[in-house]
Amino acid sequence: MRFISTRGGQPQAFSDVLLEGLAADGGLYVPGEYPQVSAADLRAWRGVLADEGYAGLAYRVLKLFIDDPDLRSLCDAAYSEANFGEAVVAPVSQVDDDLYLAHLSNGPTAAFKDMAMQLLGRLFEHELARRGTTLNVLGATSGDTGSAAEYAMLGRAGITVAMLTPAGRMSDFQQAQMYSIDDPAIANIAVDGVFDECQDLVKAVNMDAEFKATHRIGAVNSINVARLLAQVVYAFAAYLQASADETTPIGFAVPTGNFGDIMSAYVAKRMGLPVGDLILATNENTVLAEFFATGAYRPRSAAATYATSSPSMDISKASNLERFIFDLVERDASRTTDLFGRQLVASGHFDLSGDPRFQAQRDTFGIVAGTSTHGDRLATIKALWQDRGVLIDPHTADGVHVAKTLRASGTISGPVIAYETALPVKFAATIKEAIGQAPPIPPRFAGIEGAPRHVVPMAGDADALKAWLADWLPADAAVRVDF
Ligand SMILES: *Cc1c(COP(=O)(O)O)cnc(C)c1O
Repeated sequence: MRFISTRGGQPQAFSDVLLEGLAADGGLYVPGEYPQVSAADLRAWRGVLADEGYAGLAYRVLKLFIDDPDLRSLCDAAYSEANFGEAVVAPVSQVDDDLYLAHLSNGPTAAFKDMAMQLLGRLFEHELARRGTTLNVLGATSGDTGSAAEYAMLGRAGITVAMLTPAGRMSDFQQAQMYSIDDPAIANIAVDGVFDECQDLVKAVNMDAEFKATHRIGAVNSINVARLLAQVVYAFAAYLQASADETTPIGFAVPTGNFGDIMSAYVAKRMGLPVGDLILATNENTVLAEFFATGAYRPRSAAATYATSSPSMDISKASNLERFIFDLVERDASRTTDLFGRQLVASGHFDLSGDPRFQAQRDTFGIVAGTSTHGDRLATIKALWQDRGVLIDPHTADGVHVAKTLRASGTISGPVIAYETALPVKFAATIKEAIGQAPPIPPRFAGIEGAPRHVVPMAGDADALKAWLADWLPADAAVRVDF
């Protein structure tokens, strides 16, 4: 399988796009085509999941995209019982007649980002060793990507990680989880700004091709295509557990920020998984819900981005949306370049309302969007806790709320799998507000909030960041394997 940029250019091998992140032309890599999976394949994979666990299924799905003789052992190492507590890795539970939860948060950092990151760390280490080189990862996170990346790269030979976080905008637990890491190969940088400013800094460094090459800068934020592929696997795993057959459509409800998770469910659908509605839930940062309602995409400024109680969705610009739009315009790279590389840059928005392909989107691709507020989150958490004894985190609650609202209005029907994207322990204050008691702390996280913290404060300035990186990064990156 070859990978192409949403803005054109030559098809690339997976091993090349893996370490790149953003394409040189500013576009995002996507699979050259979507491999097709039949009902018979799904039936066989049901057996694989039962006999070989999630790792076996991951191998079957990913080998359609990634041609590497070591893929099986990499999947086994990433999706181990040691990392995720059980062989099924992403179990599904039934909440009521129409609602299932796909538990994607059983990894080392208690959020679904681990599902992709645990594989990514191993793919990176493997590819770097093959090339005899090293890599410095620069990323931005509003909480969960960064900690998942750090825990995935911790102890992987030849890799350092510098992670930008919006100062003071993550939960105590999230900060503790990241800043308690004390390792010479991991740097936490707290930027005076919101997540989008962190992401802009990463982009600024990425656009400086010389700096990027000199310092071997790569990316693991949500634009890396390997993350997208790894996330496709659990759409299959969730469907196979929730459905008794291989043909009945099931909706997927996905709490959305950067559009990465819902994009992976969409890819699974394009591959032939019987995904019904793709339910996109936003919090008070409603840019994507507005886009899917009107066709106008108007990213907000950093200053107009609200800090909410589902902070991992506090995103105004959805960095993966370009992948979906590329498909929507029938993979027309010059049209995509015009929208994202020109119109968005020049005027801060674009409008697809007049494009018949946008108008037909719901029928063609099935995305339907809705929003959720702090009050909705609290009410949803409380209701599920009181009625079913099920405790969910605020992000998951956004997804459940939007699915319920769209069902009540008759916009969707039939069963829905809601992605559980984090464990309640990460957002204790909101859980307490909702149900009057703190969430249980899984034993593996006991004591983390009291641990000493290691973090570098930084102004939102690309030159300052580059100067700091040039100093912190090993002078000869190729020999840095000393951790
Ligand atoms: C990252 C994240 C999201 C949003 O996922 P995207 O892929 O950015 O759309 C939702 N919930 C939690 C807990 C997250 O960490």
